Amino acid sequence: MAKKLVLIVVDGMTPEAFEHAVSSGRAPALAHLAAHGEYRTATSVFPSLTPVCLSSIATGAGPDVHHIPGLAWWNRQEKRVVEYGSSFSALRKAGFSQAVLDTIVNMNERHLSRDATTVYEALEDAGFVAGAINITCYRGRHRHVTNVPGLRRAVHGPSRFFFYNLFESDRTGAPFSGGGRKGGAVDAYAAGVGRWLVTRDGFDFLVYYLSDYDFASHAHGPAGAMDVALERIDASIGALFEAAGGPDEFLDRYAVILLSDHGQTDVRKVARLEPHFVDLKGQVVVTASNRAGQIYLPPGAKVDAAELARRLDGEPAVEVTLRREGDEAIARRRGEDFPAHELEHPDAAERVRAALANPNAGELLVSAAEGWELVDLGGRHHEGGGSHGSLVAGDSIVPLLTVGLDAAPSRITEVTPAVLRHFGITPA
Ligand SMILES: [Zn+2]
Repeated sequence: MAKKLVLIVVDGMTPEAFEHAVSSGRAPALAHLAAHGEYRTATSVFPSLTPVCLSSIATGAGPDVHHIPGLAWWNRQEKRVVEYGSSFSALRKAGFSQAVLDTIVNMNERHLSRDATTVYEALEDAGFVAGAINITCYRGRHRHVTNVPGLRRAVHGPSRFFFYNLFESDRTGAPFSGGGRKGGAVDAYAAGVGRWLVTRDGFDFLVYYLSDYDFASHAHGPAGAMDVALERIDASIGALFEAAGGPDEFLDRYAVILLSDHGQTDVRKVARLEPHFVDLKGQVVVTASNRAGQIYLPPGAKVDAAELARRLDGEPAVEVTLRREGDEAIARRRGEDFPAHELEHPDAAERVRAALANPNAGELLVSAAEGWELVDLGGRHHEGGGSHGSLVAGDSIVPLLTVGLDAAPSRITEVTPAVLRHFGITPA
């Protein structure tokens, strides 16, 4: 009988932050896990943006399989921009109620490909009880209804399902999550639910997703986030220990995987891609958010992706563009084309292949240069703070700790296969 397992995802935590947390004595819960586990780093996907990364973690597959392409993308069937919350302004610009519906419901019910199997679906099909707290990729076999006014919608999640007070499979008494990320209200809600579930030992597998660290890192930069959010993250994990009767009792009961979904790097300058394409209005669609961009060519466009790439030559915010020519993935940097597999970025060949093979991706993908961010649909950015999304190492490398588990994942897509094997299930 496999030990039960808790998968902890700390959004946006860099390896430096994790290592500092463990070595500095400021984070006793993380240090306890590290002392009993094996630590390594792993590679995220591209674009290294939260919805793409969390879908990759929860399905064990890249964007070529799960089809979530970014924080903002052009839906070719519906001929409209889908915006998953780059910023409040971006949500408003995309049409607030549509964007909220896309983020809360459609991402899982419609956009996440049926060719992908989530870890919750695979485990519950095999008779295990799966749980998810707050993670944006939650699709499961059980129907959950919300009674939030104006959103009388059903979604499908695992049997134990908690999503920011909007969907709750059980009444846990956890505090309301809407009290603001700055003060850590979202993670406080997650901790309340997590405590309740651990107290009852109410799952075989639980995803415990903590989003507030990323928020702090966007505001203060990856170094500043350590000062404001490390202790809080640690307390959210310590809350689970307490519910089990202590850290040793927790590890007696559960194996643990802890990782981040992507890193973050400092933002010093911001740019827009749109001015390079003003004369092509109506012929191209530009979606950009954080440190990644996509340019779409609707049918009948009079330019091709190679021309779009040439237009970005000399744009300092763009480190490299990526496109397909036949079966080849072509990178373009400083005015020169070359095979994308020659890129020196972490796991670049596989990440670029998977990103370009996503049917919802743009014809041209943009990976931002170190220090730069691309403004979103609402004109917002994180200048002076941190961001992520590109292929560069700082955005792409994450800490990954395994405790009580016979696996050594080196990519975030290898986590779900490791979980399934732990439970005796052969990954699809
Ligand atoms: Zn994230």
